[in-house]
Amino acid sequence: MTVTRPQREAGSAPDSARFLIVGPQGSGKGTQGVHVAEAFGVPSVSTGDVFRENISGGTELGTRVQAIVESGHLVPDELTCELVRDRLAQPDAARGFLLDGFPRNRAQVDDLAEFLDSRGESLDAVIELSVPRDESIARLRQRAIDQGRTDDTEEVIANRLAIYERETAPILDVYRDQNLVVQVDGMGSLDEVTERIFAALAARGLTPVADDSGGNGAAA
Ligand code: ADP
Repeated sequence: MTVTRPQREAGSAPDSARFLIVGPQGSGKGTQGVHVAEAFGVPSVSTGDVFRENISGGTELGTRVQAIVESGHLVPDELTCELVRDRLAQPDAARGFLLDGFPRNRAQVDDLAEFLDSRGESLDAVIELSVPRDESIARLRQRAIDQGRTDDTEEVIANRLAIYERETAPILDVYRDQNLVVQVDGMGSLDEVTERIFAALAARGLTPVADDSGGNGAAA
């Protein structure tokens, strides 16, 4: 699969790349988030993946969150926020990160803001991936067949979407007020959506770092 990305112009790499990707279940945010993180050379952090890895690995954290995740409810904020703070304090996240699945409610928004403030850091963009509800449900049903995720049953899907609409979608207003939201239409092929995301970021002056193969633009 080839994806055409805008070429970086000399000297245009941002100093930091701190991104959130927000969208309903089945919007493709996991896949797209990884593309963005790779292009900008920052780690992609998915709280859902961290929980699932801990559950399948049988860790203490996994044991604590298993029933919650499998019912589609939110893991308590204290636990989730601490996990994210620890991860973002790692050296590989010093220049930036892409967070997928966090923050998911107002308390988590405030916790992240406080954490970043305390470090003199701030977000660069919040990518909002929009897909209509029917499409979201159709994609999750397909994923249930393809991947067999235990939280992709009809009942749990409905629960997760309801929580998204009630608690997560409203956080976008907070970021809209801060002029951070880059809204991208999530309908279409994965490649089309990826291209839209990079174009929308570039329009805000956020362009990926060049490949390390060969010299970089700044030195040329
Ligand atoms: P999806 O967006 O498809 O629901 P995720 O992989 O993002 O899937 O999350 C899976 C589950 O992990 C959630 O339903 C929830 O139980 C838990 N989880 C993930 N992120 C958070 C978060 N920020 N706060 C609380 N719980 C979370």
